[in-house]
Formats: sequence, structure tokens, C-alpha cells
Amino acid sequence: QSIHAPDNLKPLLEKILQQALSVNEGKVADYIPALAEVNPEYCALTVATLDGNVTSVGDTTTPFSIQSISKIFGLMLAMERLGDPLWDRVQMEPSGQPFNSIVQLEWEKGIPRNPMINAGAILVSDVLVSHYSASKSALLSMVRSLCGSDNVCVDSRVHESEREHGSRNSALAYLMKSFGNIESDVEEVLDHYFWQCALTMTTEDLARSLAFLANRGVCPRTGAQITSHRDAQRVNALLSTSGMYDQSGQFAFTVGLPAKSGVGGGIIAIVPDYGVICAWSPPLNAFGNSARSMFMIRELANKLGLSVY
Ligand code: GLN
Repeated sequence: QSIHAPDNLKPLLEKILQQALSVNEGKVADYIPALAEVNPEYCALTVATLDGNVTSVGDTTTPFSIQSISKIFGLMLAMERLGDPLWDRVQMEPSGQPFNSIVQLEWEKGIPRNPMINAGAILVSDVLVSHYSASKSALLSMVRSLCGSDNVCVDSRVHESEREHGSRNSALAYLMKSFGNIESDVEEVLDHYFWQCALTMTTEDLARSLAFLANRGVCPRTGAQITSHRDAQRVNALLSTSGMYDQSGQFAFTVGLPAKSGVGGGIIAIVPDYGVICAWSPPLNAFGNSARSMFMIRELANKLGLSVY
């Protein structure tokens, strides 16, 4: 595999960012005012390699709402706390449905298809609320120490409006409760879920924070074993099959990297044994994935030959 040295990377990232700016597909998420007001012109691309180099172009120091990318952090904590019994309560199958779909959840008796769709992440939030005395601070301190930055915080306006406009997520949670798959108080579980969706980070912080998934579970910055090699592989497998919702197949076909998107417009892609790519631009396609972020990651992966397949 020939991967460009970081020295050659910046001009390539610049070129891809310029091309991405002419991608005019998509629409900024508007289900909450705090996201609808974000400037659609923001565009950023970061590559963090395992040797500690971070190469960035565009708006890479502007924090944005990471939304569903937070599902990875929640899952890491739940896997650590619960171990294999977690997989009795959430499956590991692609859903083939939109991220907030409710239909399968009834067919499958309250067991979500995977932890990367909303139902699965709400189930994971239940595990955190039930097994941590302070689930929010456990999550926040994990994320801060992973990226080595205290700038990671929660946008309280986004958190509030997630709650106000969260009927669909409430329905998912109460349906799971009716099947006995939620242990804690549903409102507390939802509050944790809405809170984690409201985490704000820059592309640089996000890329750094997920480097352990490209490094067999070890944080390259501190040398700490965040998770086992096996669990890092398992999370990457889930990201490959479900991280881009029902566009995951197309993403695997055209890019070939484990990845996760959020409705804030961010996408992270894991390049095993190399590093992490993080792209951000708010306008979303019909699947809820950022059109420009997908374009940038696809171009970069194809130019550098990064597909894992
Ligand atoms: N807050 C969003 C929701 O719950 C997160 C979804 C996403 O980023 N895809 O609907």
C-alpha cells in the first residue's frame, strides 16, 4: 500500500477542499434551529496520522455539533462496562433503514439492529446511565483525554432543542422500554442521549480522539490501551456496515473505510494502521450524510489507495 507522507498531504488536501466547495448538493439539518442556523459554507478536512502529525485545511478550528459521531464514544464505554452481554441487547446488523426508523424495532421486539442508528445509541445510553454513577462526565472525560483537549464541550442550546424536538427518539426509547430492553428511567436515558449528540468538537480534535481505532485500540498520543485490539476491530466492522446508515454499502463500495457520520455534517473515517480522516461541511444528502464530507473522504481515499478491501 502506498500512502503519501504527511509532507505531500497538505497540497492534496487543499485541492480536494477547493473541489468540494463546488459540490452544492444537500441541505443543512433543520430539525432544530441551532443546527439550521449554521453557515452552510463551512468546510474542513483533517488527516491525523498515527505518528502524531495532524494536517488540516479549511475551517478545522471551528467546533461543530458532532451529533451521531458521539455514538462511537458511547459504545466504547458501554462495551467496556458490559462486555459481551451488550450484544444480547443490541444487534450488529445493518438496518437498511433511515437512522431514526422505528419499524424494525417493533418487528425485532425492542432489540435495535445496531448501535449506530438512533435506537441502538439510545440503548447504549441506557447501559451508561445504568452502569455509571455520572454517565455524562464519564463520557466527557474520556473524549477529552482521547484528544488531549479540554475544548471539547456540550452546546447547551443544541442539548435543549434536541429534547424539545425529540419526539421520535422518545418513541424509540419508550418502545424499547415496553419490550423490557431499557433498564433505567426513560427520560434520564434520553437526556444522556440528547446531551451526547450536543458535544461540539473541531475536525482536529475528532480525528485525534479516534486514532485508537486505527491503532489496534491504543491511543497513539498517550500509549494507553483504550480498548482491546479485538474490540477495536469489532467497532470498525460496525462502522463499515452501519456507520453511514443506509448509504453504508455505497460508502464501502466507493471508499472502503470504516466511517461514521453525524447530522452536524461531520464524517470520520478510520484508516487502520495509518490514521483518521475527519471532514466537515453542514449540507446533508437524503441519507443524512454530509455531501461535501463524503466527497472529500472519497477523493482522498481513492488518491491515496486507502480502501481496506
Ligand atoms: N440528534 C440526532 C437525532 O437524534 C442525531 C442523528 C444523527 O446525527 N444522524 O436525530
